[in-house]
Amino acid sequence: MRARPVVAIDGPAGAGKTSVSQRVAEALGYLRLDTGALYRSVALAALIQGVGWRDEAGLTALTEALAARGGIRFEVAPGGEQRVLLDGEDVTARIREQRVGEGASFVSAMPGVRAALLSLQRSQAAEGGVVLEGRDIGTVVFPDAEAKFFLTADTQVRAARRLDELRARGEVPSASEVEAEVRARDARDMERAVAPLRQAEDALLVDSSRLDLEQVVALIVERVRQIEAALR
Ligand code: C5P
Repeated sequence: MRARPVVAIDGPAGAGKTSVSQRVAEALGYLRLDTGALYRSVALAALIQGVGWRDEAGLTALTEALAARGGIRFEVAPGGEQRVLLDGEDVTARIREQRVGEGASFVSAMPGVRAALLSLQRSQAAEGGVVLEGRDIGTVVFPDAEAKFFLTADTQVRAARRLDELRARGEVPSASEVEAEVRARDARDMERAVAPLRQAEDALLVDSSRLDLEQVVALIVERVRQIEAALR
């Protein structure tokens, strides 16, 4: 049994998983693993190497090679910000571009890509004391996670948050474009054959449509502390 829980935070794009998992990890003194950044890094590597979104064999080979050489690494900067390195290059900002996010939802539907990233995710969090954010953490990566949350919000609320995030990065998509992209991404994530996005039966549903960040964080931290106490 783990001394500290594995905390799984799954949910659709724009539900606030990144901000929430950062704050929750900070409050608990846990590490954080942003699994979406792994899929985004694979998508960026595919763009760089000219491997197409539907080239399953090419994407699988690329991901296996990346995993084998430890080509995707996370680093905590002095200010506490998490950086993502792809073959040693800082790609933290690039993997957040809209086209990379869209590419990630294509590459993540490939069974070979998911399999290559699975052991990587498990090995980094097996001891517990880690918050993992993603789509399939509570269902596939850590079905035995002690603390599972499914974080969601209305589509329009999520699209508005996504738009703010992209604008803050200097991208200028229209609101309708972003909403359409969020809907298409949800559909791809929920309809794919392998590890589709769905709430684990034992996950707590947290709807952030009408809750602010502080409220969501407080709710999750309180619940994890109760689970921590029960493990002692
Ligand atoms: O969470 P984020 O938007 O960064 O994830 C990018 C894409 O990676 C998602 O749309 C999803 O298709 C994929 N993903 C996944 N499984 C995870 C995390 C992300 O399929 N655990």
